[in-house]
This record gives sequence, structure tokens and C-alpha cells, in this order.
Amino acid sequence: MSTEKDSGALDPQLLAVLACPLCDSRPPLNQQGSILVCTQCGARFPIRNGIPALRPGDALSDDATPDDLTDHE
Ligand SMILES: [Zn+2]
Repeated sequence: MSTEKDSGALDPQLLAVLACPLCDSRPPLNQQGSILVCTQCGARFPIRNGIPALRPGDALSDDATPDDLTDHE
């Protein structure tokens, strides 16, 4: 049984191993509320039900530069 907080904050140990899927250098991600932001390219990824959506297709096209986004299926 888990008594962990359910505020949407990721486990720091989990956050530490996450990396941007769009950057070859696998830079760390900063959590901003329910979004993870790449420290290198600025791509944003949603956290859904406490699980980071870190596939390239999950990136939120907001601050991301178009050149970094591959739009193929
Ligand atoms: Zn990135």
C-alpha cells in the first residue's frame, strides 16, 4: 500500500533518470507543474497520471523549435 503524495510531483529519482528523447545528448528535464521541459531544446512533455509521456510524438509544440520536431508517423 502506498502512502506517497499524489500531487503530480515526480519522484526525484525518477526525474533524474529521465532525458529528452529529441536530443542526442540526453539532457535532463525540468518539471514545471505537470509538464517536463527539456533543458536543451525546450521541448515540453506532459505528465499523464503521474507517468511522463516522453515519446517524440508526445512533445507539446509550444516553445519547441520546428527544426527539432520530426513530424512523420
Ligand atoms: Zn531536448
